[in-house]
Amino acid sequence: MAFEIDKLVRTNVKKLKPYSSARDEFKDFDKEMVFLDANENPFNNGVNRYPDPQQRSLKDVLASKQQLSPAQVLLGNGSDEVLDLIFRAFCEPKIDNVITLPPTYGMYKVLAETNDVANREVLLTNDFEPNVTDILKTADSKSKLLFLCSPNNPTGNIFKAETIVQLLENFQGLVVIDEAYIDFATAPSWTEKLTDYPNLIVTQTLSKAYGLAGIRLGICYASEEIISVLNKIKPPYNVNELTQKRALERVLDFRGVKNEINSILEERDLLFKELLQVVFVKKVYTSNANFVLVKVDDANARYQELLEKGIVIRNRSTQPLCENTLRFTVGTSSENKKLIKALKEL
Ligand SMILES: *Cc1c(COP(=O)(O)O)cnc(C)c1O
Repeated sequence: MAFEIDKLVRTNVKKLKPYSSARDEFKDFDKEMVFLDANENPFNNGVNRYPDPQQRSLKDVLASKQQLSPAQVLLGNGSDEVLDLIFRAFCEPKIDNVITLPPTYGMYKVLAETNDVANREVLLTNDFEPNVTDILKTADSKSKLLFLCSPNNPTGNIFKAETIVQLLENFQGLVVIDEAYIDFATAPSWTEKLTDYPNLIVTQTLSKAYGLAGIRLGICYASEEIISVLNKIKPPYNVNELTQKRALERVLDFRGVKNEINSILEERDLLFKELLQVVFVKKVYTSNANFVLVKVDDANARYQELLEKGIVIRNRSTQPLCENTLRFTVGTSSENKKLIKALKEL
C-alpha cells in the first residue's frame, strides 16, 4: 500500500489557507528595490526589516550538507517548536495519539499534553532498545506519531538500525527520529534514508554540538510533502534575523565545529574511564552523546553532595529504568577535572 501523507494530516490543516506575508508576496528582497510593503521602519539598524520567512540562505547550506533539497527542510525556534508544529499538523486533539518510549526526552510528553493528544508510553527494553512488538501492539489507526530519540536522552545510546527499520516499515503513522545528539554518534544520520521512507521525519538542532542553544534553531528534515504541510502552519517569521545570521556563520565554520566536537568526544572518553574508578559508581553507560549516564549507590545523596561542591548535574532517578542514575554533561577539560576531583572526595 502506497504511503499517503494526506490521510495523516488534520482536516483543518488540509483546508487552511496559510497567511501570506509581505515577504511571501515579494521574495526578492536581496534586490535593490524601494521596500514600502511591510510597514517596517525604514531607518536601517541591521534588524529593521522582517527576516526571510523561508530562511533560504541557511536552508541551502543545511540541505546541501545532508545532500537534500532545501524544500525538504523546515526550521524553527528550537526543535521544541519543530516538534510542536508536527503535533499540530498531524494530531487531532482528543482523538489521535502518539507513542513515546520512556526513559526519554521529556518534551514529547509535555507537547502531547499541551496539544491534548494521548501519549501512549511503551518502555524501552532493559538494554534501552525500542520494544518493537509492544510498540506495534500499542499502535492503532489513530497513532499518528512515534518518537524515537537516537541517541537517546538520558540513556545516551543509539538504537539499532534494524530496529528502526522494522518500525519504519510497520508503524502506520509518521516516525520522528530526534537526532539532537547525532554529531556525537558513531552512526550516520537517518536523513540518508529519507527517500526510502516517506513516513520518516528527522529532527536536529544547533543547541548541542553546534554550541548555539541560546539562539534557538531547530531543524526538521523530511519529504517535500511533509515539509509543505508544516510550512502551512508555521508562524511566518518564526526564525529571527539574528538567529539566521549567527546560525549561518556557524554552520559554515565546519572546522571550528568539528574541533569542538572532537574535544568533547575525547573528554567524554576520559570522563567515562574516570567514572568507572569512582567507588560509589555501579555502572557507566556507553554514550553516543555529549553526556554520560551513571548508576550510583544513592543518586539523591550524591546529587546533593555535588551541589554543595558547586557542581550541577541532572538526577534522572525518577525516570523508569533509571533508578539511582545521574546524567553528567561533558564539560571542558578543566570542568571535568573539577568534577572528577569532587567525585573522588565524596
Ligand atoms: C536538547 C534536546 C533537544 C534540543 O531542543 P532545542 O529546542 O533545539 O534546544 C531536542 N531533543 C532532545 C532529545 C534533546 O535532548
